[in-house]
Amino acid sequence: MPPVWSKGLKAKDDPRIARFAEASHNANRGKPTWNKGKKGLQPWHNTKGLKKTERGKANINWKGGITPINQQIRQSFEYEEWRKKCLERDLYTCQNCEQIGGKLHVDHIKPFALFPELRFEVSNGRTLCEECHWTIGAKVKHFSTRADFEEEADIIGMLVGE
Ligand SMILES: [Zn+2]
Repeated sequence: MPPVWSKGLKAKDDPRIARFAEASHNANRGKPTWNKGKKGLQPWHNTKGLKKTERGKANINWKGGITPINQQIRQSFEYEEWRKKCLERDLYTCQNCEQIGGKLHVDHIKPFALFPELRFEVSNGRTLCEECHWTIGAKVKHFSTRADFEEEADIIGMLVGE
């Protein structure tokens, strides 16, 4: 016999080989090729390598839709005032990691898109550093209705303050 262990062995000669052959055959049966549909499984926040239009879609999902009207509100005097009041109340400190100063965002605790009446409520704002803003933004991205948000808000600790 030559030294190569499996040389000449067939499935019928050894039950272990038979099992192995059958398992790998079944594992591949009916499955698409390894890369089929891979593009659609990219994580929502990984916009690298996506086409420009897909990047746009990812951004819309993130905030529940940055429409031109929302954009206008964000640029309005009222919004600027709201932002400033929140920053001052929070002493320019990230409410999540306590970083002071730096690049700070004011986040809507209840999402901007789902709770339009709370857009300029100081109690609905909290100061977050850029990193925490993105982290928390990622958690709320899948809420499409207010009920959805309220149901899960407690569980994931999204509601801070009153
Ligand atoms: Zn932070």
